[in-house]
Amino acid sequence: MKTAIKGGWLTINRACNLRCSWCYALAEGFNPVDNMEIGLAKKLLSLFSDLGMKKIILIGGEPTICPNLIEIISFAREKKNTTRTCN
Ligand code: SF4
Repeated sequence: MKTAIKGGWLTINRACNLRCSWCYALAEGFNPVDNMEIGLAKKLLSLFSDLGMKKIILIGGEPTICPNLIEIISFAREKKNTTRTCN
């Protein structure tokens, strides 16, 4: 039986400007400089694309404050991936 992987999650940062009591990222300390390097993000997005994964969810921390967010989304679009953010 062949199984298709349709999507994946990418943790691109650890920072967040909130402190929700239920936060799954609490143990990571919300480190504002702990951002995924753009080179690693591109390698992983290329791998996702090669595997046929078209839907990528960007998580963190709070991914919308990641300094590389725009570049990551732009590269994902080049690879024909659909992205959305989720924290
Ligand atoms: S990462 Fe999400 S759950 Fe955690 S503090 Fe920020 S908004 Fe709240």
